[in-house]
Amino acid sequence: MSISPDKDSGKYSDKYSDKYQVLKQVFGYDGFRPGQEALIDSILEGRDTLGIMPTGAGKSMIYQIPALLMEGITLVVSPLISLMKDQVEGLNQAGVHAAYLNSSLTAGQYFKALEYARGGRYPIIYVAPERLLTDSFLSFAMEARIAMVAVDEAHCVSQWGQDFRPGYLRITEFIDRLPVRPVVSAFTATATAQVRDDMIKILRLQNPAVTTTGFDRSNLYFGVMAPKDRYGAVRNYLETHPGSSGIVYCLTRKNVEEVCERLRADGFSATRYHAGLSDEERRRNQEDFLYDRARIMVASNAFGMGIDKSNVRFVLHYGMPKNLESYYQEAGRAGRDGEPAECILYYSGQDVITNQFFIDNNQDNQELDEKTRELVRQRDRERLRRMTFYCFTNECLREYILRYFGEYGSNYCGSCQNCMTQFETVDVTAEARALAGCVAACRKRYGVNVILDTVHGAKTAKIRQYRMEENPQYGVLAKTPLFRLRQIMNELMLREYLTVTSDEYAIVRLTEKTAVLLDEEQLAAHGPVTMKMAKEQEKAPGGSKETRGSRKKLKTAGSVVLTEEEEQLFERLRSLRAELAREEKVPPYIVFSDKTLVFMCRQRPKTLEEMLEVPGIGGHKLEKYGRRFLEELCRRP
Ligand code: ADP
Ligand code: ZN
Repeated sequence: MSISPDKDSGKYSDKYSDKYQVLKQVFGYDGFRPGQEALIDSILEGRDTLGIMPTGAGKSMIYQIPALLMEGITLVVSPLISLMKDQVEGLNQAGVHAAYLNSSLTAGQYFKALEYARGGRYPIIYVAPERLLTDSFLSFAMEARIAMVAVDEAHCVSQWGQDFRPGYLRITEFIDRLPVRPVVSAFTATATAQVRDDMIKILRLQNPAVTTTGFDRSNLYFGVMAPKDRYGAVRNYLETHPGSSGIVYCLTRKNVEEVCERLRADGFSATRYHAGLSDEERRRNQEDFLYDRARIMVASNAFGMGIDKSNVRFVLHYGMPKNLESYYQEAGRAGRDGEPAECILYYSGQDVITNQFFIDNNQDNQELDEKTRELVRQRDRERLRRMTFYCFTNECLREYILRYFGEYGSNYCGSCQNCMTQFETVDVTAEARALAGCVAACRKRYGVNVILDTVHGAKTAKIRQYRMEENPQYGVLAKTPLFRLRQIMNELMLREYLTVTSDEYAIVRLTEKTAVLLDEEQLAAHGPVTMKMAKEQEKAPGGSKETRGSRKKLKTAGSVVLTEEEEQLFERLRSLRAELAREEKVPPYIVFSDKTLVFMCRQRPKTLEEMLEVPGIGGHKLEKYGRRFLEELCRRP
């Protein structure tokens, strides 16, 4: 627990001379990551600061380092208990006294912590937004010297974001009450312009220094599959990646339960997490995952915000999330240690309907008037559409995501599924015209499946019932495999030659662009309609995306492949780490990250001094663990 009563406090601001020293001595790192330094500097200059950086970029250090250099206390407003706990444990392990104040403390613990805080013990205090304006906290804050208020997950102030938290709206009221206005810094991984403007406006940042770093996470591999047997595909992935730890996200609670149960029945070490479980079970399951007691976490989107488990090697999506913001945030929980990790989305057409349902029945915005609510729904449908296209596109997946967040890179990353698949450009003008013609002729009344079955010449009851045999396009593409027709249909929607209504019926409709396909003259001016198709499919008809993409072994810059001997050493270090973590009652990654262990295997430090060269080992951790790890490193197996 963070409020242990030792008395060596002393002012931190006298302990350290500059940010480099804190970085090295406290956190054990030699250099800053992109964006960190500029933001730290602006805070130290006393300027309000807004940092927009992707998950895993290292935002916490940006307020933690100045917190140890500034005279006074840094309050960190944070939305989640788990996040606070994680951060405080991490700081304590690095030898920094920090505490959190939230509803997980008993009244006794809470007042004890406040008492220590009054005594100047903590340079950093994490606090839930709802606490700020309580009498007890205010009376403390009015007398303390608050140097900075750092707002973590600052997008929670915005109603446009997905995690709106009313308590965040009261942060400025709290700041206004303080005798001296502290520096205000805010951090988020949400990049859209609307949310950014909200953060500046609502938090009333004064002439803020804003830094947005690139959103690319080069160590992540992205893939999309549309397997017929979705569970089988996930199981297959887990079988072929034994030993590594990861998350399987599901759309609904029911899916979480089903998938978790099946995985257990199939002998996997899996646990589960969703909002319908008791607090106690959620806490326990989350810990099992964090402490590596359960290898796989099957979870709804309720799981993960602020969980800095750095060795998550894969994030599989058993179903498509409602928008790319959610997807990238969830997928981004993989590979926070910078080592290669994989993010694979297992898509099915049903996901669109499920998400549509969520949007139409969203109860989150009751306080908004009906007109605004409809606006929000429209925006959500548009975001869902862009998410769906992610599953269809044959272009670079990374590029698709980055473009969505307003960044432009090269069109080829070389390390996503699409970039690693061989494509060829195919002329699909005839197919496109048949599909568009079919939609036009059936007076735009039917959904995708009926249209595809019609041009394919199916003889089902439904086709007869709708009298689609009379459609002029009936059976004209009988020779083209159905999966390919579906791909072409998807492409036509992606490029807005056709569209589909966003109600539950999902009826295919014409767009302004459809005329290009239907009208000979316009088509001649437009030229043929082409699209990229995976080459392997020529040889393997019947397979859809599931068969494509023979994967090369992923190697990203900076990744290391261990020799067999190093691997054995790594395992020994890992057990030692687990043992120490148990003693300390913290998750293993809080002791040392995988990356730090890998470096130990590589560098084989022989003295404590050499040990300090390993990234992630600062003075305090060296003192605490250095000797035990040295012994293990020098021991003959
Ligand atoms: P974010 O809050 O942006 O998602 P975190 O602050 O949790 O990211 O940092 C992610 C990981 O990166 C942590 O394990 C942290 O120790 C590590 N990290 C942060 N800054 C650096 C740095 N300059 N050098 C090496 N590792 C770093
Ligand atoms: Zn790519």
